[in-house]
Amino acid sequence: MKNIFRRIPAHIGGNIVEREESCRICDEKMGERIAVVDYWNIKTARLIKCPKCNHIQLDPMLTDSEISKGCNAYYIEESARSSDKEECINFVRNFRRGVVFGYSLKRKKISPRSVLELGPGSGYFSAGLKFVFPSVDITIMDINVHVINFNQEHHKFKIIHDVPDHFIEDCINKFDLVIARDIIEHVSDISRVVKNVNRYLTSDGLFHFITPSGHEDVWKHYLTSILTDSASELLINHVNYYDGKGLKEFLIKEGFIPVDYYTYTIKTTLRGNGWKKNQKLMSPVSIRKNADSSIIRKGTGIYNIELKKEKILDKWYIQDRAKWLTYIISVYQHFSIIRINPELNIGHEIYGLFKKN
Ligand SMILES: [Zn+2]
Repeated sequence: MKNIFRRIPAHIGGNIVEREESCRICDEKMGERIAVVDYWNIKTARLIKCPKCNHIQLDPMLTDSEISKGCNAYYIEESARSSDKEECINFVRNFRRGVVFGYSLKRKKISPRSVLELGPGSGYFSAGLKFVFPSVDITIMDINVHVINFNQEHHKFKIIHDVPDHFIEDCINKFDLVIARDIIEHVSDISRVVKNVNRYLTSDGLFHFITPSGHEDVWKHYLTSILTDSASELLINHVNYYDGKGLKEFLIKEGFIPVDYYTYTIKTTLRGNGWKKNQKLMSPVSIRKNADSSIIRKGTGIYNIELKKEKILDKWYIQDRAKWLTYIISVYQHFSIIRINPELNIGHEIYGLFKKN
């Protein structure tokens, strides 16, 4: 037993190499080569771990057009896999998560007025937040035109068609809450994104994110590299793998203070992620999947859902007149009992709520 605890999390390391691009967090020029990955048939790159800040990222980084091409292919494969019914279940699930988040702010006596969500997907998380705070003004930012259109038509949210790395002058001091759920692992320049978020926020504004714990997320690629000495497939464009301690220190350096910061799922750890050197946990050896053929084959729609929002949210426990009931059911479904310090690099997903200092 004692042995197991000494092995979790396992050390991830590799040969010291010179990087093509310096660390986006601390500007370091050298790094440890952890793995080689193929992003579809679009690009081959190395995963490099920074010896100074422990951040792991793609080297060289994907360009914006490479990301958008691969992203589109991934979206299409993903939406082809899930039926409309599953899609609607996911919408409601995200709505409930938004409700839980909204009430967690309420308990802290915080009522956001103007919210920006980066990469909102279906938009149902923000819809849940708006259920709790009906007068909140919601703007979403995405580069994918289908996501933009869906959020505009389905939720009537305001839209910005752009990537979070680009600075938008109109957004300065405009929002008291910026949300980035499962986004910061995808961005090509995290330093620029966090600087932008800071400038978009009003004083005392909040930054909420969730992101995979980098140590476990990169484990599959690391295993493929050390067990097979081959490149692995990077189909989801996770280009950043955050170290729990490094991420917190980085955000503090960029002018934020932590309000809530914890890791909340450990199922993956129990399965061996992050410590067990088992072939079953590897990412598949790369076959350089063709991104173009998947786009042509499946068309380009993302949410081909005809259903109206009222119909999707037509559940016995979602009622304007009994919001307490919505809250209770949502908390019952999504509250995380387990809360681990992300600095331990154990567990799957990190939850962060930071305040502009
Ligand atoms: Zn670094």
